[in-house]
Amino acid sequence: MIGERIIDIVFPVRCPLCGEVRPFGDAGVCIECEKELSYVKEPTCLKCGKTIESSLDEYCADCMRLPKSFEKCFPAFNYEGQIKDSLYEFKYKNQRGYAGFYCEGIMKRHGKELKTIPFDGIVPVPVHPHKKRIRGYNQAELIANQLSKAINVPVYPDYLVRSEDTNPQKELDDRERMKNLKNAFIISENVVKLNTVLLVDDIYTSGATMEACTEALFKAGVSKAYCTSVAIGRGY
Ligand SMILES: [Zn+2]
Ligand SMILES: [Zn+2]
Repeated sequence: MIGERIIDIVFPVRCPLCGEVRPFGDAGVCIECEKELSYVKEPTCLKCGKTIESSLDEYCADCMRLPKSFEKCFPAFNYEGQIKDSLYEFKYKNQRGYAGFYCEGIMKRHGKELKTIPFDGIVPVPVHPHKKRIRGYNQAELIANQLSKAINVPVYPDYLVRSEDTNPQKELDDRERMKNLKNAFIISENVVKLNTVLLVDDIYTSGATMEACTEALFKAGVSKAYCTSVAIGRGY
């Protein structure tokens, strides 16, 4: 396939972790990087799925402080080391091809369980419209598209819309973030009725964003929301 070969030279496939160009025909992670992959391990918070210190605890500190109304989150990796850098490249350096690897990670860690839940739709967490215009894509939507193929559930990319006027989140604590996010997500008009939804994002931190999205979905008549993210912080 000469065409594919040219695409491969112009847009070479890179290891999503170290960024090295991979040999033609190879789509994945290099062996060295694969060994270093840090999947989320038990014990985990029953709600958000992040690693917690003791199996005697049911929930992480974030979920205790800010209770969540989604059913459960399915994160694949700890947000640290190479995954952290990889997600940065994915989001800001146009490395859109990494989405396939992230989906694989989610499926390796949670595929069995995800396939048992009767999802009606997959909804990516939206980014600010002006950020999407500048970046050219919503990173969460790219992951959602891959998951759609893996679990055979349709994606609704514009189901949730982010309003233009949310304040920057950086300087805020959890509660202020939550307040700030309260009206950040709106349901787009003329949406279909979905009962069970899988929300998708690249990174899960305290869960404030997922919670705000869940609350917006409930307003649209969704009865159950689950979430997944490529990476999540540790709960200690
Ligand atoms: Zn590598
Ligand atoms: Zn938690």
